Amino acid sequence: MNTDLCWGISEEHIDFCALEKPVHKSLVIPLCNLKKQAKTAGFELCIASGFRSFQRQLEIWNAKARGERTVLNNEGRPLQRLSVSKTELMFAMLRWSALPGASRHHWGSDVDIYDAKAISPSNLQLLPCEYQESGPCAALHRWLRSHLQADQFFWPYCQDLGGVAPEPWHLSYRPIAQSFEQSLTIDGLAQLVESAPIELKKEIMQNLDVIFRKYTQSV
Ligand SMILES: [Zn+2]
Repeated sequence: MNTDLCWGISEEHIDFCALEKPVHKSLVIPLCNLKKQAKTAGFELCIASGFRSFQRQLEIWNAKARGERTVLNNEGRPLQRLSVSKTELMFAMLRWSALPGASRHHWGSDVDIYDAKAISPSNLQLLPCEYQESGPCAALHRWLRSHLQADQFFWPYCQDLGGVAPEPWHLSYRPIAQSFEQSLTIDGLAQLVESAPIELKKEIMQNLDVIFRKYTQSV
């Protein structure tokens, strides 16, 4: 595979028009089918976020590192930036946002979904409580849990394994995602980070082994 596809640098694998958000060309039909099945069950399954480029992820990352966007602590509350080291800041960021180059959203195989019948996109915050118990997307989530085939769609961040915080809204399409997973290498990621205008570069490079293992491999 051309690794530029893996890092979100090339967009040639993405369909920008077929659905409400850009996704991998080969995901359009499976996702349309899933939307149809959900509709029959009484839901309006919509995509809050699909493909995201390396450049966009870099902007998010750098804005958080510079204090232009809020960084959350482990409990999901705003982090007191002055009380932590740069390395601690980086790990707090990694809990909620992927390192540019290592986001599954670069692949176009992964989407954040919600039930548009139950909550408007402007009110959606993508918080676990929205997908649990009596949250607006809880019924859709339960329906997906009982209907999805594990060899097709799955939740890469369904439990807290110490890396990325649980994301019950994040669905991955395995037939596409697995070839990207195999193309994601630590050496490739190291080269990418070295050459990118990325904040906290020194801290990232010093901890790249841990970052790669905990935030890209434990799904
Ligand atoms: Zn996501």
